[in-house]
Amino acid sequence: MHQFIDGRYREGRGDEAKRINPATGEPAETIRYATTDDVDDAVAAAKRAFATWSRCTPAERSDALLALAAELGRRAWDIAAVETTQTGKAIRLATEFDVPGTIDNVSFFAGAARQLQGLAAGEYGAGGTSMIRREPIGVIGSIAPWNYPFQMAGWKILPAIAAGNTIVLKPSELTPGTALIFAEAATAAGIPDGVINIVTGTGAVAGEHLVRHPDVAMTSFTGSTAVGRKIMALASETAKRVHLELGGKAPFVVFDDADVEAAAHGAVAGSIINAGQDCTAATRAYIQRPLFDAFTARVAELMDQVILGDPTDDATDLGSLISHAHRDKVAGFVDRARADGATILAGGHAPGGDLAAGAYYRPTLVVGAAQDSEIVQEEVFGPVLTALPFDTDDEALALANDTPYGLAACAWTNDLNRSLRASAEIQAGCVWINDHIPIVSEMPHGGYKASGFGKDMSAYSLEEYTNTKHVMLSRDKAPHKDWQNTVFRTRH
Ligand code: NAD
Repeated sequence: MHQFIDGRYREGRGDEAKRINPATGEPAETIRYATTDDVDDAVAAAKRAFATWSRCTPAERSDALLALAAELGRRAWDIAAVETTQTGKAIRLATEFDVPGTIDNVSFFAGAARQLQGLAAGEYGAGGTSMIRREPIGVIGSIAPWNYPFQMAGWKILPAIAAGNTIVLKPSELTPGTALIFAEAATAAGIPDGVINIVTGTGAVAGEHLVRHPDVAMTSFTGSTAVGRKIMALASETAKRVHLELGGKAPFVVFDDADVEAAAHGAVAGSIINAGQDCTAATRAYIQRPLFDAFTARVAELMDQVILGDPTDDATDLGSLISHAHRDKVAGFVDRARADGATILAGGHAPGGDLAAGAYYRPTLVVGAAQDSEIVQEEVFGPVLTALPFDTDDEALALANDTPYGLAACAWTNDLNRSLRASAEIQAGCVWINDHIPIVSEMPHGGYKASGFGKDMSAYSLEEYTNTKHVMLSRDKAPHKDWQNTVFRTRH
């Protein structure tokens, strides 16, 4: 069953869809999608639960989240196994990154729930004492993508409920498994029924209905920029708050004083993580000309060593992509770049043999694709890195900023001034210096430009799921206060 509403599993009442295991091409499971009625039921459950959950003390919510962290810890292996089966990602990524990272997030928000900050109460106008209340907003409608289903469930659910909201999450219809386990584990850990609800359905039916729903106070979305724009328009019908985490096209800038070996390792890990289906993945390498040949040769050599294979095997570096259709889309970008004259220094094809039936694609390095070509400008979302040379620092930073996106970026240099300049001038929500990818629960994740706005993780995200209320208490007991003379004078 793929709906979890009001503390229990149930069947959706919509269309049936057959899921294919992307690593094998074999049928995996049949999902019955949520209808708009199912979404209504989930929103109603969340609305009922809000009345009590929003009034819990921060300590009560914190205790519930700590119990959830322990419950998820007990189920960690099962969660990793489901994550790998539904996405095709290598099991090491699930066991060492997705699952422990998400559990750490649960623990972080258990602490953060007790730490909402505001201005100290004070007298900012004559005769009145002001104070700030941070209040939960209401029912949050969240929509998540398929690339990191368990992490995305955590990033959407945790700040929302830690702040006292309740939530209806629509995971991607391709990968609902671990979001459902998350919600069920929350119930087992004592989080009240209706606080977390999961509806599995399509974007067009369940997603749009959730965004439009008048009882949903805020829409929090992670996914592509194209769908994000649509969601923003839909949310405007009810003038609700939106939080958008959208696509990325991260630049990877290597200055001529960098450690080439370290940069090459960083580029391979940063571009093939999760088969490149990572919104922060390194996608566009810009290398200062003296290092260009050495860097690209080493990246190609390392990419050729990457082990593709059965995602459930601990020896596998790279599993399959999410689907055969998506793999073909990735291959299409590379094929068109090749036809336009780019050189493929590594990969550039799907593997044959035992892996031919799965949605695999070899790590790929593309050299010589023009800055304005589609493979450099658009989100490929596969294990594909492009590389172009640059001559001056000004040129590097201009190239880094030359796409509509602004989610993440990195610069490789041992020069303090260069690293400071790159971190200030690259327009992205995260800039790594001499690394690419690491995330931590305490720090915000979110975009600039067409990568959206709104932060996930960190205390910043907690604030985004609250309303800020000003309360002013008058200390002036006079029947006619001085300031009122501006409006009308007393004439006794
Ligand atoms: P997508 O935009 O196609 O779908 C995301 C979600 O939106 C899915 O649940 C889908 O069912 C739903 N959806 C689709 N159309 C909808 C509509 N009209 N109304 C409401 N909901 C709708 O994205 P995807 O292919 O699942 O995921 C890949 C994308 O997600 C990439 O662009 C990637 O960069 C982005 N992403 C961003 C972040 C981030 O933090 N910024 C993180 C992960 C993924």
